[in-house]
Amino acid sequence: MPGGKVMFYTGILSICQDEAGIAVVMGHEVAHAIARHGNERMSQGMLAQGIGTLGQVGTSGASPQVQAIFNQSFGIGSQLGLLKFSRNNESEADKLGLVFMTMAGYDPATAADFWKRMAANKGEG
Ligand SMILES: [Zn+2]
Repeated sequence: MPGGKVMFYTGILSICQDEAGIAVVMGHEVAHAIARHGNERMSQGMLAQGIGTLGQVGTSGASPQVQAIFNQSFGIGSQLGLLKFSRNNESEADKLGLVFMTMAGYDPATAADFWKRMAANKGEG
């Protein structure tokens, strides 16, 4: 988050199960922060917003059907493509997260079980 804060939903606590599990999440999220993935995502989001505004201006003379198609395809694209961390960012955060939790004194081997519970819950980091 802006200002270097790390935030996660309390819903994840049942998947964490214990302190080591929370360390996995914290390590992963701190890694996103250290690698500045949030800033990348933020600027991607702002870019998307800019394109959307341009698109609305650009199609304002067009028929309602054309505008609807543009808004629909743009909306789908921004939902799927820009509002989540990329797979590369996630891999990087997974790797760095193990380093950070180890530095904090937790056993990185517990991370495998955490991610299995996470996968079983169909959650995403
Ligand atoms: Zn993540």
